[in-house]
Amino acid sequence: MFKLRGSFLLSLLLLTACTEETISKEPIQEEKDDNIVVTNDGKITFEIKNKVGVPQEKVEAIKDEIVTAYDHIKDSIHTSYTPSEHISVWLKEDGQSWGLASKIELAGVKEDLYPLVHEMTHSLLGYGNNFDTDNGYFTQEGFASYMEYQYGKNKLYFDKYMKQYMESDKLIPISRLIDQNQDDVYFRPKLSNVKENQVLMEVSYTHAASFVIYLIDTYGLEKFEQIYDKKELAKKLEEVYGKNSSELEKDWLAFIQNQQGFTYEEKLKWGFYDMNTILLQIDPTYFAKD
Ligand SMILES: [Zn+2]
Repeated sequence: MFKLRGSFLLSLLLLTACTEETISKEPIQEEKDDNIVVTNDGKITFEIKNKVGVPQEKVEAIKDEIVTAYDHIKDSIHTSYTPSEHISVWLKEDGQSWGLASKIELAGVKEDLYPLVHEMTHSLLGYGNNFDTDNGYFTQEGFASYMEYQYGKNKLYFDKYMKQYMESDKLIPISRLIDQNQDDVYFRPKLSNVKENQVLMEVSYTHAASFVIYLIDTYGLEKFEQIYDKKELAKKLEEVYGKNSSELEKDWLAFIQNQQGFTYEEKLKWGFYDMNTILLQIDPTYFAKD
């Protein structure tokens, strides 16, 4: 899932078993639906539900993006999940984007900021047991954000945001984000203040994204594949990386410390100050060190 950042952060294809013969004999019967696209390997059919009425040109562009994103995701890590053969992609005006087993909801289409690659990563690689949170959120959201950053439109500068959170003393301990007893509070917060809720969720997602990108850049995709969407992540991290989560966290934060933060102009442009004001209002216990 992905919440589009506001100003502040930015037919069923009839897979008939027809032979070439029947196609050439009866070309008129060929189903033609402009909103359908099949991946290069022929395995998955995506159907775009253009509920927002974007021009067909846009639909065509999204179809191309789907095919390309599919190949990138297939070339990334491998999981035991077998994706659905038919996935519908609903274009939405606003709200949250989702990547489920056979349905993707995409917000931000009109602004051209829809997180297609992020949601496709969820739908193609799987999420928990059956798109539930049995294995938490951290690696799945982090990796979907990594893929979006590499190949998508919604490129967020996670490390710069992290640097800002660090400077505002608003870091969330990784131990909490990977703890199945605490992660809902961060990834699906239920604060009564809507804006605070959104900011806390974004901050949590940004931590996951930045940490996962750091792990992949430092140790590679093969190691990451071993921890992706796994239970008992703290144990898994130590097993695979030979360091426990707080050691890895320390290394990562040292890396963030050396990153360039946003410039004053960037902060103004992306409404950083509004975000920071809200961030400072959130109950500080969310950010307390363990
Ligand atoms: Zn997501």
